[in-house]
Amino acid sequence: MVDLHTHSTASDGTFSPRELVYLAKKVGLKALALTDHDTIDGLPQAYQTAKEEGLPFLCGVEISVKFDGPGHFHLLGYFLEPPEELKEVLDKLKSARAERNKRMVEKLRELGIDITLDELQSIASGEIGRPHFAYLLVKKGYVKSIEEAFERYLKKGAPAYYPKALLTEEEAISAIKKAKGIPVLAHPITLKLSDEALKSYLIRLKELGLMGVEVYYSEHTKEYTKFLERLADELSLIKTGGSDFHGQNKPDIKLGLGFGNLRVPDECFYELKRAISRFHRRAER
Ligand code: AMP
Ligand code: ZN
Ligand code: FE
Ligand code: FE
Repeated sequence: MVDLHTHSTASDGTFSPRELVYLAKKVGLKALALTDHDTIDGLPQAYQTAKEEGLPFLCGVEISVKFDGPGHFHLLGYFLEPPEELKEVLDKLKSARAERNKRMVEKLRELGIDITLDELQSIASGEIGRPHFAYLLVKKGYVKSIEEAFERYLKKGAPAYYPKALLTEEEAISAIKKAKGIPVLAHPITLKLSDEALKSYLIRLKELGLMGVEVYYSEHTKEYTKFLERLADELSLIKTGGSDFHGQNKPDIKLGLGFGNLRVPDECFYELKRAISRFHRRAER
């Protein structure tokens, strides 16, 4: 069992990169990847700790991408080492996120909710994301749960929502490839496309350079997972998987196990790793 989709305190998780590696060891994972939202700041610490602990590890990132459909598009990128080449593009995303956080605070204040950027900063150790907003809304008694915070205020289309995605599919995929990484479509379920529409979309994304799809995921049903396995094989896309562990910010999701039934095959890790290594060899020729 491996987990290739996790978040740390560098974005909106509650475990530090180091603690995450310790936890992965403790629950018996065979390999781990850290995939924080729009940042690689947690990678050096996780990479180093994994090395010390002898835990097979991949460096990752999860980038928000502009999407014209009903749901949302996240692109995962996987690398052997922290991808310094991505810094420039990630800095832009950081500024976009800062602007967005300011806008969302304004919107919430207009709705009569007393919340400030300072308060958000004091509970986040890295990038501020919507889970931090949700946590504050709960803490200050405006809602009863994280889920209610998203439903009433924070989800796409809700009154305090403000978009932050900056890159097109093509730009995001190319940025990852330029840094010698493997671009993978995260949690296809969140695109909210029909099975047929997803297939056509994946074909187009593959033309743009997409190399993998996250088949195994906490929110994918057994049937949907089977469908994605077949689709990935048919389109020759690498199959990956992970829980989207966020610690206490998603308290029902356990590292490696998701809501309890997730088991990401070890082979996903090795296939990804081989694909990146091939990429490096080709680049060196
Ligand atoms: P952001 O990067 O600021 O847009 O926040 C994205 C994070 O919010 C991801 O970790 C999502 O899983 C989380 N998120 C989105 N929708 C919900 C929801 N309905 N309930 C809980 N967490 C959510
Ligand atoms: Zn998150
Ligand atoms: Fe995501
Ligand atoms: Fe995630």
